[in-house]
Amino acid sequence: MSTASHPVVPTLTFRDGRTIPQLGYGVFKVDPDIAADVTAQALAAGYRHLDTARIYKNEEGVGRAIAESGIPREELFVTTKLWNDAHAFDDGIAACEASLERLGLDYVDLYLVHWAVPSQGKYVEAWKALIALQQKGLVRTIGVSNFPKEQLAEIIEATDVVPAIHQIELHPYFQQRELRAIHEEHGILTQSWGPLGQGKSDLLENPTITAIAEAHGASPAQVVLAWHLAHGIVTIPKSVTPSRIVENLAAVEVALTAEEVAAIDELDRPDGRGGADPATKTA
Ligand code: NAD
Repeated sequence: MSTASHPVVPTLTFRDGRTIPQLGYGVFKVDPDIAADVTAQALAAGYRHLDTARIYKNEEGVGRAIAESGIPREELFVTTKLWNDAHAFDDGIAACEASLERLGLDYVDLYLVHWAVPSQGKYVEAWKALIALQQKGLVRTIGVSNFPKEQLAEIIEATDVVPAIHQIELHPYFQQRELRAIHEEHGILTQSWGPLGQGKSDLLENPTITAIAEAHGASPAQVVLAWHLAHGIVTIPKSVTPSRIVENLAAVEVALTAEEVAAIDELDRPDGRGGADPATKTA
């Protein structure tokens, strides 16, 4: 494990009083064969927040890197997610236990319902399973991902338990202002997936971004991540390239001016969504 000094990542506080490092390492589409290796690189670079999911099929590799890192468990923040085929209450409990087994952990810091899948109609049941898992101590904090505003309101109404965080697609081309305002009303943290636009658009070549990057002697990816951080968003960029793993974490050291944040705010697009629409996503 590296003993070099690492960038200091700010933490944000959930409504339940626990904290989360504001920048973490995401492993969507990381091949199971390399998951342990790249996660070990992220930990050596100084990341302490890891974001995986059952459907990524790399929980074992992430768990192996954690075990071999020697980093005390309490210094790590590990998230995994309940897949869409396990929304029934008992299935939800069993799915979490199986994820813990694969990760080699006694608990995860954050467990999320991965997608609402409104057409399936079991998201309230799934949310009740997460509430039970928290009561059993298998998960510290519970939240959701990819919930349209209607389904978010429905789980809160049905259980009186407000998710601590909502993980949604969010980047400068798709800023999710309506959901972010709803989160603020309820004290829900916003977490951005696809923070760099998943490499699906020209975001990192956008002249507004590249001009700000030049002014700071930073990379375009760092500027985009600094924009997320400036808005109080928790973010989890993914890379399997060693230099980019380091570069993305160092975004915490890029402080944008209010004018620069406002200029990036202007990049929002009505058609900016790159991934599936949570309202229509089927299992
Ligand atoms: P991302 O926006 O983090 O983009 C990752 C891609 O950006 C990389 O594959 C690479 O092509 C490029 N990239 C990364 N660092 C770069 C750099 N410094 N310079 C230039 N290009 C760079 O997209 P993502 O991986 O889809 O999202 C991040 C994480 O969010 C995932 O790994 C996963 O943990 C989570 N996620 C969650 C959901 C969900 O449904 N809840 C969906 C997608 C992703």
